[in-house]
Amino acid sequence: MTSVDTLIRGITNGVAPGEVCSTDLVEAPWNFDTGIPAYGPGSSMFDAIPAHSPLQGELPEEYRTASADELHARIMAAKATLGDRVLMLGHFYQRDEVVQYADYVGDSFQLAVKAKASPAAEAIVFCGVHFMAETADLLSGPDQAVILPNLAAGCSMADMADIDSVEAAWEQLEEIYGDMTAVDESGRVPVIPVTYMNSAADLKGFCGRHGGIVCTSSNAETVLEWAFARGRRVLFFPDQHLGRNTAKAMGVPLSQMPMWNPRRPLGGSTVAELEDAKVVLWNGFCSVHKRFTVDQIAKARAEFPGVKVIVHPECPMPVVDAADAAGSTDFIVKAIAAAPAGSTFAIGTEINLVQRLAQEYPQHTIFCLDSVVCPCSTMYRIHPGYIAWALEALVGSASRPSEVLNRIQVADDIAVPARIALDRMLAAKPGHTVSV
Ligand code: SF4
Repeated sequence: MTSVDTLIRGITNGVAPGEVCSTDLVEAPWNFDTGIPAYGPGSSMFDAIPAHSPLQGELPEEYRTASADELHARIMAAKATLGDRVLMLGHFYQRDEVVQYADYVGDSFQLAVKAKASPAAEAIVFCGVHFMAETADLLSGPDQAVILPNLAAGCSMADMADIDSVEAAWEQLEEIYGDMTAVDESGRVPVIPVTYMNSAADLKGFCGRHGGIVCTSSNAETVLEWAFARGRRVLFFPDQHLGRNTAKAMGVPLSQMPMWNPRRPLGGSTVAELEDAKVVLWNGFCSVHKRFTVDQIAKARAEFPGVKVIVHPECPMPVVDAADAAGSTDFIVKAIAAAPAGSTFAIGTEINLVQRLAQEYPQHTIFCLDSVVCPCSTMYRIHPGYIAWALEALVGSASRPSEVLNRIQVADDIAVPARIALDRMLAAKPGHTVSV
């Protein structure tokens, strides 16, 4: 079994064929704890808007210098000592070297639901990124500690919308749309804010305070139906692609989806465009999914006639349009599991999941659309060294009492409205007939 890490090392050392997007990916993440907020190494290293991920302090030397075998033994020993006191959750996009320790593997929403359904665990070690740990904290019990092993594991897309920029956008839109709470003859307010799960907790709280809602890549259409039943238009953040792909599939014309660039007055749109808008799209994107192209799909079809191309809806619209299907990671996993043996899939999502699926389903041919190996650089920041550090602190020792490190805790003034927005999402049901 070849993990993505092993593959990257092989390519970088010249012993395996292929290409990686950054040779820095062979480095341990603590080599990039520079004290200056920045993304990298990997696919996010050239992002224009690195910003809000919290900083991780220096990992003690014993964890930085330990061999992979030693870290493995220490993690297993700590897990055995902690038993059911700790629940380890692993996102699909984590490297195999991390996923092997997870009690449960899934997408961000599945993992948050798992946290909610596991009240017996005193601590939840979340091997994912910051917004996911926040969501787990929102849904888990008040006495459960959610731990993010490396605080610098953020999400470049989530960071592209921050509360100040969204509040500023809302104020500008209010000047155009008038009283945001006033309902028209159809019973709808001017605009409903919708935030993707991949956003900071304070943005979920913003949606809770303003009649809005959270969505995932699995339920975005249901959530937009919910929103259009209550508002004449939607402000969708932070991922423009999920918003555009979903609204387009619902029949919203592209001409009624202006982009909101938070660095420009009125987001760079005109008053007329915003008045006519059905969905105002925040100018955010996922650095991993924006790498997929229509040319890659054409190449896959030419080389593998009959290939089924499935991409994630965070991919740009032309890629989604050219694919056979688009859906969440859960959708992709289920489509592959349900396919007859001998199927061929070209997948447009993060390489760690694609590589794992290829190994779990040897009866199929499964490959990543992008031939360049380029994992999510922020997911990559969770490393066994940080996991060993967090778990051994929880265990404690004769000379050191048990300690919770890197707890992610959402303040009540944010958590209360954020839970409202999440609860609205959980209660939203598909099948409304709405006029968009
Ligand atoms: S894959 Fe994209 S959306 Fe997911 S954590 Fe990485 S940067 Fe964020």
